[in-house]
Amino acid sequence: MIIVAGVAGMIRVAGSICGTLMSAETAVFLVIRMPMSAMLVHTLNIYPHRVLFNGDSPHHAISCNPGSPAASGPIVRRHPLPRHHSKGNMMRAARFYDRKDIRIEDIPEPDLLPGTVAIDVAWCGICGTDLHEYLEGPIFVPPAGHPHPISGESAPVTMGHEFSGTITDLGEGITDLKVGQTVVVEPYIIADDVDTSIGESYQLSKDMNFIGLGGRGGGLAEKIVVQRRWVHPIGDIPLDQAALIEPLSVAHHAYARSEAQSGQVAIVGGAGPIGLLTAAVLKAEGLTVYISELSEARKKMALTTGVADEVFDPRDGDVAEAVRERTDGKGADVGFECSSVPVVLDMLLDAVRPGGVIVNVSIWGHKPEVDMPKLVLKEIDLRGTIGYSGDHPSTIELAGSGKIDLSAFITARIGLDELITGGFDELIDNNEQHVKIIVDPRA
Ligand SMILES: [Zn+2]
Repeated sequence: MIIVAGVAGMIRVAGSICGTLMSAETAVFLVIRMPMSAMLVHTLNIYPHRVLFNGDSPHHAISCNPGSPAASGPIVRRHPLPRHHSKGNMMRAARFYDRKDIRIEDIPEPDLLPGTVAIDVAWCGICGTDLHEYLEGPIFVPPAGHPHPISGESAPVTMGHEFSGTITDLGEGITDLKVGQTVVVEPYIIADDVDTSIGESYQLSKDMNFIGLGGRGGGLAEKIVVQRRWVHPIGDIPLDQAALIEPLSVAHHAYARSEAQSGQVAIVGGAGPIGLLTAAVLKAEGLTVYISELSEARKKMALTTGVADEVFDPRDGDVAEAVRERTDGKGADVGFECSSVPVVLDMLLDAVRPGGVIVNVSIWGHKPEVDMPKLVLKEIDLRGTIGYSGDHPSTIELAGSGKIDLSAFITARIGLDELITGGFDELIDNNEQHVKIIVDPRA
């Protein structure tokens, strides 16, 4: 049961949510999408985590020493925890206390309130955002003593925002769902008075945060209770694949922002999880998709999953030139920046046609140099995108109809006890080998 989770070396972290993991030489870039205000670039020295168990209790407390100048030595935490597996009204959950301090604990099951839905979580994906919180948070997580203005909660909070499950109970007033239905959750924490109808840009509302980061439970727990408006039935989509509906919705929102049409040509910069899922949506929507990527593992994944018509390695030649050669010299209609690497943005400015659109999906931890003359002279339309709004029904349709096979993107399945070693550390150490690791909170 001993967990030895070692990450030694320099790790550069660039901010963001539901994102992409890209490696560059010895550095690991964690690219997650997050509000601009939360963007950070840090260089950390990560030393082996200290993992302790709570006496003879089967529970373990995971305490990690970041080894930074601010840290004075190994952190030893011994905290009383409730009994092992959930009994009665207790359940297991992964809770974020602080940077490098995520604990698997037994906590009370959430209460069913009017207008809410009780869900047994089946699978929950680990996201770049979760890693970002783990390595250098709290970012989205409200620090202890600083409650989020909408959820009213602060650390410790249950983690996990990419999850699927089965409805076990319905709160008063809910008549359009059934117990036993399989669902996903659009994991927003948004003020009750914000209109979240399709067509509304509710992702841009004040104090927006995410279930599994800003409070209100999370998918890395056996059970969750959420407001009706965030629950989306998934029909026949298998529950493991459905854990990827959330990041696929991020990709769908980027596609929607591009206003791309079937028959057009797209170039995607970066084949991390979000780059691959963006390519999957574009392909499903009838575009010709080219991807630019350096990593051998990711180039292979882009081709074996069938999301790219062709993958270009910038080391083998000018990517923009290759795109022009395949488009009668015009260039791509749309480009998607999914790497937060300046040369990739530069390539996209070269590769899209005059009057083309570039959607920036990654969030930048630093200000890149942008070739503005190129943008000006080609009248390129550069657009931002964050989260999703009204994208879940379309995304569920894409997965449910078989236009997108989400099973291809699941690269590992683990239980909650393995969250740090088999999940977070695996994504940090071997990120190029993974697209999505999913967690069974009952295993
Ligand atoms: Zn995510």
